[in-house]
Amino acid sequence: MKISIIGGGPSGLYFAYLARKRLPGVEVHVHERNAPDATFGFGVVLAGAGLAKLAAADADSFERLKGITKPLGNQEIILNGRAVSIEGQAYGGAVERLRLLMLLNELCAEVGVTVTHHDDIRDTAALDDADLVIGADGANSTLRAMSSAAFGTHGSELSNAFAWYGAERRHDRPTLSFRSAGGGAFCAHYYPYTDRMCTFVMECDRAAWEGCGFGTMTDDERKAFVEQLYADDLHGRPLISNKSEWRNFQPVWNERWTHGHRVLIGDAVRRAHFSIGSGTRIAMEDSIALVSALEQTRDIPAALAAYVASRKPAADILIGAARESYTWYEDMGRHMAAANGPYDFAFGYLTRTSRVDAARVAADYPQFMTACAAATGGAVR
Ligand SMILES: Cc1cc2nc3c(=O)[nH]c(=O)nc-3n(C[C@H](O)[C@H](O)[C@H](O)COP(=O)(O)OP(=O)(O)OC[C@H]3O[C@@H](n4cnc5c(N)ncnc54)[C@H](O)[C@@H]3O)c2cc1C
Repeated sequence: MKISIIGGGPSGLYFAYLARKRLPGVEVHVHERNAPDATFGFGVVLAGAGLAKLAAADADSFERLKGITKPLGNQEIILNGRAVSIEGQAYGGAVERLRLLMLLNELCAEVGVTVTHHDDIRDTAALDDADLVIGADGANSTLRAMSSAAFGTHGSELSNAFAWYGAERRHDRPTLSFRSAGGGAFCAHYYPYTDRMCTFVMECDRAAWEGCGFGTMTDDERKAFVEQLYADDLHGRPLISNKSEWRNFQPVWNERWTHGHRVLIGDAVRRAHFSIGSGTRIAMEDSIALVSALEQTRDIPAALAAYVASRKPAADILIGAARESYTWYEDMGRHMAAANGPYDFAFGYLTRTSRVDAARVAADYPQFMTACAAATGGAVR
C-alpha cells in the first residue's frame, strides 16, 4: 500500500511514523513545503489527557517526547494584576514546536518514512496514484481547498485579534492575564516550554483594537504597546517575534472528512480555537485513530469510515464548545467589568462553555472552589 501525505507538521509526521511502524509493508511519503528547521511560533501545550493517549499509542516515541516536554503547574488567571490559582489538576506539559518537529522527523527516518522538504504540493492530482492521500497540511489545506465543496468546508473569522510571540522568562504554569486598556480588553495567554522560555499569545477585543489605535499601527508598534501593557507579566523583558503578525483567528470545520481516497487530519479537518484545547494534541490523536482504523482493515473506504466514526462526533462537539469559548473571549471586556473580583471572574471563565458546569469545576479543582466560595461569600455568578 502506498500512502502520500501532504504536510510534515505534527499530524502528518506522527501518522507517517505510526503507519510505518504498525502497518507492515506500507510505503509512506511525506511532502513538506518548508525546510526541516522552519517553524512558526514557539512552544505548544500538550495537556495531561492527551499525553496519556500518546503514551498508549506508542511507548517509544512517548518516552522521547517526555524527555523534551516541560511539565506545567496549575493554571493561573490574572484579572488586572490580581492572580488566582486554579489548584487541583496537573495541566500536562509544553514542548518547543521546533523540537517536536525535529523529534518526529527523526522517528520517521528511523522507521523508513520518505520525507521530502521544500516540496510544495500545489496540484494534489499529482499524488493520486497513491492508495491513500492524506491532507495533513494545516488550517489552509491545499487538499481541502481543491475539493472544498466535496468536503463541505465552512469557516468564519473572529472579531478579536491575536499574535503569537515568545519571551525569555522563567515561569512554571499556564497563565491567562486579562487587562483593560483603551476602553477594551486584552488577554495574554502564556506558558513556559523550557526552563527559560515562554510562549506569549497576545489577544485583544475589537474595542481595544480601535481604542488603542491598533488599526493604524505597524506590527512593531503593536508589539511595543503590549510589551508596555504587560511589563509586569514579562518581568520587563521584550517579546520575541517570529513572523508574529496580528491576525483574526479563522475557525474551520468540514461536513465530510473524506473524498474518495483522500482524507483530512489535524488542523486541515478542523481548527477549533486555541482557548479550547491544544490543536497539536488533537491533530496527533487524529493520526492515532487513522492508523488504528487501517490496522483493522486495509480496505480504504472501510478504514476511512471507521476513522471518521471514531473522531468526528467528538470533533463536532469540540467545534460547538470552541464557539462558546471564542464568543466569551469576544465579550471578555464585559465579563471583566461584571465580575465580583478575580475569583468570580475565574469561575465564570472556567464555566464559559456548556462542557463545564459548577459541579465539574468543584470535582476538578476542589481547592479553587473552596477559595472561591470564601472570597465571594458563595455568590459566584
Ligand atoms: C496562536 C496559536 C496558538 C496555538 N497554541 C497551541 C498550543 O499551545 N498547543 C497546541 O497544541 N497547539 C497550539 N496551536 C495550534 C497548533 O499549532 C496546530 O493545531 C497544530 O500545529 C496542528 O498540526 P497539523 O499537523 O494539523 O498542522 P500544521 O502544524 O499547520 O502543519 C501543516 C504542515 O503542512 C505544510 N504544508 C501546508 N501546505 C502544504 C502544501 N501545499 N505542500 C506541502 N506542505 C504543506 C506546512 O508547512 C506545515 O508544516 C496554536 C495555534 C495558534 C494559531
